Amino acid sequence: MIDLADHLPVGSYEIPDRHRTRVILRDHTCRFPHCTRPATRCDLDHTRPHGEGGPTCPCNEVALCRRHHRAKTHSTWRYDIVMPGSYVWTSPTGHRFRVDHRGTHPIRTTHPPDE
Ligand SMILES: [Zn+2]
Ligand SMILES: [Zn+2]
Repeated sequence: MIDLADHLPVGSYEIPDRHRTRVILRDHTCRFPHCTRPATRCDLDHTRPHGEGGPTCPCNEVALCRRHHRAKTHSTWRYDIVMPGSYVWTSPTGHRFRVDHRGTHPIRTTHPPDE
């Protein structure tokens, strides 16, 4: 693992450019499952919302393209950070995906919801 994007918290909600640079180097593309939109053209999402105590720190910032940033905001798609650069998404139907620098991998559950 490249240890680029760690802790560099700032007090503001605005994400400084130096965070953006780190997140782009870490995430490469939108981190939504199977999305290949380059991180250079993505938003940075506060994984844990700033209003709920989420820090403006690279460890809490993830590259999401506009469309998937909206999906996270307006649907029940959710993700957790396993570690910076490695994420587990849960779809509205309960499917789970691991997304990391090697790509997207469906996570098999013991009881798949609808397959
Ligand atoms: Zn941090
Ligand atoms: Zn995307």
